[in-house]
Amino acid sequence: MVAELSQVGKVALNAPWLGWRRVITLSADCNPMNLGNWQLETVSGGEFRLDGGAMFGIVPKPLWERIIPADDRNRITLQTNCVLARDGNHTLLIDTGYGGKESERFIEIHGMEQGAPLLDNLYTAGVSPEGIDFVVFSHLHFDHAGGGVVRDDCNALVPAFPNAKYVAQRLEWEVANSGSPELAGNYPPENLRPLEEAGQLRLIEDGEEIVPGLRGLVTGGHTAGHHALTFESGGDKAIYLGDLCPTHAHLRRMWCMAYDMYPLETRRKKPELLAQIADNGWTVLFDHDPVMAGCCIEQDHKREFAISDRLNVL
Ligand SMILES: [Zn+2]
Repeated sequence: MVAELSQVGKVALNAPWLGWRRVITLSADCNPMNLGNWQLETVSGGEFRLDGGAMFGIVPKPLWERIIPADDRNRITLQTNCVLARDGNHTLLIDTGYGGKESERFIEIHGMEQGAPLLDNLYTAGVSPEGIDFVVFSHLHFDHAGGGVVRDDCNALVPAFPNAKYVAQRLEWEVANSGSPELAGNYPPENLRPLEEAGQLRLIEDGEEIVPGLRGLVTGGHTAGHHALTFESGGDKAIYLGDLCPTHAHLRRMWCMAYDMYPLETRRKKPELLAQIADNGWTVLFDHDPVMAGCCIEQDHKREFAISDRLNVL
């Protein structure tokens, strides 16, 4: 990335290998981000690539390609921006990326990183798997829940974070384990069963507080039980929107993923939530944006929502 994290003011952000170019206002270096008692930090669960058309649904390629050009296989580069959150009492993770147990073919198709990117990056951040006490999933697709399990010495899949409670919305868990034929492949059971078998699962209801200052708010849209995670402390608020709005290119109402199970719900719920975020000056956190971990937004007549302040990393 060309822009330095410490730069403040209007700059052109150039990431030609990703095809992103933007003129934006940069915040001061915010690594990690302090939000009242919370210290929030982006930890990558691995870069990967998905089909550009699938990432933008009904939006024609000539439009999305101006923002994120595709590679020769029509794939665009994405991140898995997991959030490491600490408040002095808890050390928790939001989402876990795709993990390190996929087949060579799957890794090649999705342009994934080898190894276990999340665990490697946590190690670099000085955090051991044993030190995490909560893992909260926005939803249970492979690129969010896959890093929650690892293979042990006997090649059995076990929780990657042995002391953590794994938190999911009850509705999301029920749908993911329903065995519905139309969801075949959406929720690989090997990502979920080890958590339940280890007795480390905690299912929550819509709006429930997970620990003081962290709640899950069901948004639907992407999946039936998909929820956004809100961090709140000292009058400030940040919202991890999960796949309701995976990158800053998805801020517009109609720019939604073909992966959404309930696209009309996304079109309705996303702008409602973004308007609330803009009006209250909360910070948005993006789960798949390769160049922008978060931002502040304001309502904009032409573009619906405009980025007023960006955070490259937390
Ligand atoms: Zn995703």
